[in-house]
Formats: sequence, structure tokens, C-alpha cells
Amino acid sequence: MLKEFEIINKYFKKLATSKYALGLTDDCAFIEESKSFVINTDTLIENGHFFSKDEPESIATKVLAVNLSDIAAMGTIPKYWLLNLSINQYFAKASWLTRFSEKLLELQNKYNISLIGGDTTFTKGPMVISVTLLGKSLSNKRVLKKTTALPNQIVYVSNNIGDAYFGYKILYSKYNLQQDLYKNLTIKQKDSLVRQYKYPIPQVELGQILTKYASACTDVSDGLVKDLEKLCQLAGVSGVISLQDIYKNIFSDSVLKVIQESSNIQETIIQAITGGDDYQLVFCVPKNKAAMLKQEVTKIGVQIHKIGETTPKKQLPLYITNLQGSNLPINFNKGFEHSFN
Ligand code: ADP
Ligand code: MG
Repeated sequence: MLKEFEIINKYFKKLATSKYALGLTDDCAFIEESKSFVINTDTLIENGHFFSKDEPESIATKVLAVNLSDIAAMGTIPKYWLLNLSINQYFAKASWLTRFSEKLLELQNKYNISLIGGDTTFTKGPMVISVTLLGKSLSNKRVLKKTTALPNQIVYVSNNIGDAYFGYKILYSKYNLQQDLYKNLTIKQKDSLVRQYKYPIPQVELGQILTKYASACTDVSDGLVKDLEKLCQLAGVSGVISLQDIYKNIFSDSVLKVIQESSNIQETIIQAITGGDDYQLVFCVPKNKAAMLKQEVTKIGVQIHKIGETTPKKQLPLYITNLQGSNLPINFNKGFEHSFN
């Protein structure tokens, strides 16, 4: 098993590219800036969020993506990060650490961030990886929040939802009858779903663009329905989203195929929008800004899809109209009631 200083020097020092890191030699990182910062931290635990047999590159991607996605949701620029490792015997090996740190380096370059510190401890228990990420506000100084959503705006979601959820199902349902659902997917389609689950892509550029357009924004980690419901609740508005619009607009070809193969289309749509791990953004935009926003995001290759609108506060924070256009009976405390149609 490798020693603490070997791990730091051999695998993580190369990531300390900012002068603020002080070469990972001192007791603290030292940041001198006049801008506002947002800070976020997220933890992944072995056997819960990842497994020892997972590709080290996938674990590296997830631990950065979960944080990058939060920073993206606030419309800020990711800058500096800290890495806390409670590492155990299985992972404290050159082969694992090399692949893990090389992927971190690749992502660090892609997102233009820099490691400025962390901590390395050894454990006999499951490995714990925690990343803390600092994001800097744009020069327009706007930082997006959930609480500021306004009524009578359009609710958009970026790109596709549900790929990661079905990717996860494909990975872990080998001995399960669910497999039937996926039998008509090509290998390429299955791979693309699994890839979305293993290698999530945070919407960093989109978040920054949204500072010019959106009244509120959040990222989709717990599931589109839950995350949007939380945003509406915190802002004191209600959201009304339409399964018709969702079905038409937000699914990839692979997810659409899974939905259409299923015995209950509506229920499978609900699974896709409550599954989570999407790391897309859901946000509210005034109607008169929608066209300009669409034009701008198209230039960076991002799609945005209207899924509903906000209204002044009603009894519930979120309403969902079903494929026939009537309200779904939902008890948000209990999750979905699976008794409808
Ligand atoms: P101390 O004993 O003063 O807390 P450490 O020995 O924990 O210092 O860490 C030495 C330096 O290495 C510090 O700058 C710390 O931020 C950095 N460091 C330790 N572990 C990591 C890690 N996993 N990733 C990045 N930097 C780390
Ligand atoms: Mg320490």
C-alpha cells in the first residue's frame, strides 16, 4: 500500500496548477481575489455511490461532475477544488491512482479548474471521496438561485433526461426481467445510456449563459420532478409541467424506444423523470427572453426544451398533466402513486 506523501506527490501534485495551491506544500491554500465565490462540496462513498469494480475514470468523472453541476446551476465559473480521500487498501495502489488522477487531470483541463489542496487518510472501511469546489461569479455578478423563480415564466430543461437512469438499470439488471425493456436497443444505444450514467456531463457553459436570462435554476440530480418541485417550493411559485411536452421533447432516441416498448408508457415516462443522475439544468425564463436564449444556446450545441410554466403559488408546488391532459394524482411526500391510468 502506498504512503500518504507518495500518493500526494505522485498523483495529485500534478493537478495543483494554480499558484494559490502553493504547490501543495503548505498548511492551507491561499486565495487572493476580489470576486464573489460560491463553494460546494459533495461526497461519494464506496458501495453506495461507486463500487471497487467501477472504472477509476468513471469514479473520477462522477466526483467532479456532481460538484461542477452544482456550480453550473448557480451560473458561475468553476475555479479551484479540494480533494479529500479516505482511501482503503483496495484503492491505494499505483494502478488505480494513476488512472483516477489522469482522468482528473483531463477533466481539470477541460473545465479549466485547479486542485488547491485536500486531505489523505487511510481507512479499513469503505473508501470515501469528497470534493469541494469553488466557483467564481461572472463579470455580470449574477449568481443563479432556486428561491428567485417568478410566476408566468417558461420552465425549460436542457438536453435529455432519463438516459442515466436507464443506463443504470441496464448495468445492474442483468438477471432481471426488466432486461426485456431493453431488448430492442442496439448495443450502441445501450452503451450510450450506460455512458451517460458512468460519465455525466455537467452543463457549465449553459449555466453561465443563463445568468442573462433565467430567474432561477437548479441541476437535476435527484430527478427532474423532485428538483423542480423543490425549486418551486423554495421560490413560492407553482410549476405546471406537461407529460405531453415531456414525451415529445426531452428524451433521447434510446430512451424513447424504451418508453415505447414498455407496457405502460406513462409510468415509464414517470420513471425517466424521477430517476435522477441527469446533471442537466432546469430553469425558469420570462417569455419575452425565450427566443434569444434559444438562439444563444444553439450556438454552443445545447438543446433546451419547454416542459411547462410557472404560475402564482397554488396549493401544491408542482402539478403534472398526464398524456390525456388532466392532472396526475401525486402525493409528493410519498412520491408517486402508481395507481393512475
Ligand atoms: P497537514 O498535516 O498540515 O494537514 P497534510 O499532510 O494533510 O497537511 O497535507 C499536505 C499538503 O497536501 C496540504 O497542502 C494539503 O492540502 C495537500 N493534500 C493532502 N492530501 C491531498 C489530496 N488528496 N489532494 C490534494 N491535496 C492534498
Ligand atoms: Mg491534513
